[in-house]
Amino acid sequence: MNEHDSETISGMLQQRGYMEALERDAADIAIINTCSVRENADKRFFGTLGQLKKLKVKNPDFVTCVCGCMMQQEHITEAVKQKYPWVDIIFGTHNIHEFPDMLEQLYEARAAKAAGSEQDAEAAEGPVPTDSAGLCTEDRRAYNIAKHDVRSAKDTRVVRVYDDKKEIVEGLPAKRLYRHKSFVNIMFGCNNFCSYCIVPYTRGREKSRMPEDIIDEVKNLVADDVREVTLLGQNVNSYKGVDARGRQWDFTDLIYALNDVDGLERIRFMTSHPKDLSDRLIKAFVECRKLCNYIHLPVQAGSTEVLARMNRKYTREQYIELVRKLREAVPDIAISTDIIVGFPGETEEDFEDTLKLAEEIRYDSAFTFLYSIRKGTPAAEYEDQIPETVKHERFNRLVDIMNACSREKNAAYVGRTEKVLIEGESKKGSGMLTGRTETFKLVDFPGDPALAGQIRNVKITDSNTFSLKGELID
Ligand code: SAH
Ligand code: SF4
Repeated sequence: MNEHDSETISGMLQQRGYMEALERDAADIAIINTCSVRENADKRFFGTLGQLKKLKVKNPDFVTCVCGCMMQQEHITEAVKQKYPWVDIIFGTHNIHEFPDMLEQLYEARAAKAAGSEQDAEAAEGPVPTDSAGLCTEDRRAYNIAKHDVRSAKDTRVVRVYDDKKEIVEGLPAKRLYRHKSFVNIMFGCNNFCSYCIVPYTRGREKSRMPEDIIDEVKNLVADDVREVTLLGQNVNSYKGVDARGRQWDFTDLIYALNDVDGLERIRFMTSHPKDLSDRLIKAFVECRKLCNYIHLPVQAGSTEVLARMNRKYTREQYIELVRKLREAVPDIAISTDIIVGFPGETEEDFEDTLKLAEEIRYDSAFTFLYSIRKGTPAAEYEDQIPETVKHERFNRLVDIMNACSREKNAAYVGRTEKVLIEGESKKGSGMLTGRTETFKLVDFPGDPALAGQIRNVKITDSNTFSLKGELID
């Protein structure tokens, strides 16, 4: 979701004639889009912000902006305001669309300040000689000195952070990361309040876009060579859109409608909360040709007791049953998950339940996280926090199992022929292309970059833990 927000911010800048700088030192503006989900990102954010001070000293016109969900937390915004005076613009997750306006406001404030400092200099020292361009060289020097003082950004600073989204703003541009696939937000916010999670506090309450707006966006993307869309929401299963006629749409209605969009080849979505995954959606995997055989279904923990304290609202058994139904309907469906290790109060037995669940389900891939205290969430107040050493030791045990599963799942692809959406040249080197199977497996294979955007048959010849290798067969 943050990645997609960054695409929107880049798109708005591009619309105004800005270009991407190839190196940090060559940039006129830096925007740090932050994530508050885990503590690691917090640390990296403050480190990066510290480094930007050098650029500001070197180039007084440099603009430093910070945004994203960390800015929705008051203690963070206050820390930025107090300790990082060279930050020029602060905005949150609910007003990305206001960024160009904030940039204008900053430039106006800087111009007014520059004019003010020229007047001050004149008042203090009388008229000063002008250079050949008609500029007062001494004023310019005074202004530059003021600008070099990084603390001076404070009085021109623009800060706008709102508690929640007032309305959904449609029609924002995006500078896409990928040419042939795209993210599409279908909703914003979250109402679930899992006890460890900061997202409902930083992204606000659930709001669904109108189905017509989503379908129009997808049609426009298809006209711009996009073949695959990933529908985004914190819990897409609770999508509740209302169309222009007042009819309510649920997530499955949307999938069926998008399945009919000419030229679109693939539909994916994330994330799907197990508590709300309906039988109708499982049926849609069978009936909608374009809905890919892949689901990211975060389990978070394998112990029913831990799940209850996480406020996930399903049991271990219900989750296992859901996976059974999915595999019964779509035997080759690939399943990935998120797991948190070391949630407060997690006993060795609870953790072993997670290991057993992982062994039983045999995921295609998993994102595993060390539990990270998030200020303001209920779990941050739980007293039985798990020591870091225990968390790390459990984490390593889990990763070993998950990686062994991924290796085994990928090895089973060797010899199969898979339809791959070709994304373009592989990062690994010349002559290699990269793409994804319907089941979201990354495949590298030799081929002509002109094939990007096509879906072609690739025979899988080799595999490892995180990707496959293959060759084009037609
Ligand atoms: N809406 C998505 C998750 C968004 S956050 C969902 O419900 O699946 C992405 C993942 O980050 C979560 O699934 C969870 O595994 C992890 N996560 C969230 N808060 C965390 C925390 N405090 N510590 C560690 N991992 C966390
Ligand atoms: Fe966080 Fe739970 Fe909402 Fe996902 S569903 S964003 S984990 S509160």
